[in-house]
Amino acid sequence: MDAELLRQYLEFYQDLGIKTLYRREAVAGPAPIPIPMDLPPLAPVGQALPPANPVPMDLPPLAPTGDTLLKIVEDIGDCHRCRLSEGRNKIVFGVGNPQSPLVFVGEGPGADEDAQGIPFVGRAGQLLTQMIEGTAKKEGIELLRKDIYIANVVKCRPPENRNPEPDEMEICGQFLHRQLLAIRPKVICALGGVAARALTGHKEGVTKMRGKWFQWQEIPVMVTYHPSYLLRQYNQEAKREAWEDLKKVLHYVYD
Ligand code: URA
Repeated sequence: MDAELLRQYLEFYQDLGIKTLYRREAVAGPAPIPIPMDLPPLAPVGQALPPANPVPMDLPPLAPTGDTLLKIVEDIGDCHRCRLSEGRNKIVFGVGNPQSPLVFVGEGPGADEDAQGIPFVGRAGQLLTQMIEGTAKKEGIELLRKDIYIANVVKCRPPENRNPEPDEMEICGQFLHRQLLAIRPKVICALGGVAARALTGHKEGVTKMRGKWFQWQEIPVMVTYHPSYLLRQYNQEAKREAWEDLKKVLHYVYD
C-alpha cells in the first residue's frame, strides 16, 4: 500500500473517531502495540517518504466514488458484521430527503425503530419531529420532517437500549460516514453524546458540547441534547437550550 493510500485510510479512521490502531501479531506474542494516529504528512512533491514498516491490516474500502444511498444499502445487505445483528428485527438505515441540506444523527434504534426499520419513530422521535417542525414554523421557515434526513451512528438496536460499544460504532460507522459523504449536507446536527463524540472525536459530555459548532469533513456539526433526555420531566432548562440549538441550526441552513 503506498503512503498516500495509507494516509487516506488513516484519515478515514480518524473521521470515525478511531485514534489508535493495533498491529495484529503474526504469531502469539506480547500485548498488541498501539500505533498512535498522527497522520503522516503529505510528501512534498518530489520527496520520497521514508520506507514504512509494513503493517498487515484488513481495511474496509474507502467510500467509493459516485457513492449513493442505494449502493450503501446494498453493501450493508443482511448485515452480520457485529453482535448487534443478533437481536435486531430490522436494520434502521436512515430516512428522509437524500438531498437534504440538514442531517440529524442519533445514537441507535430503540424498540419502535427496530420494529419499523425507520429512525426516530418512537416517543423521542415524535418529540424530535415536533421540535423540527414547530421551531421551523415559529421561525418562519417552511420545513417538515420529510424534508430533512435522519440517521443513527449504529443501524441495529443495542440490547436493552444500551450505548453502542466502540467496536460496533467502528464497524457501523463506515456506513454512516458514507451516508454523510453521499448526502454532503450543509449542516449535521448530532443528537446526544454518543453521536456528538462519534462525529467530532471530542470526549466531553453533551452538556459541555451542546450549542457549539464542530466540524466533520469540513461540514459544520451542531451538538444538542438527545430527545430522549428531553423527555425526562425535570429537563425544562435542557429543553429550552435544545430549542436554542435548533434555531441556530435552522437559521444557518435555511436563511
Ligand atoms: N434514539 C436514537 O438515537 N435513534 C433512534 O432512531 C431512536 C431513538
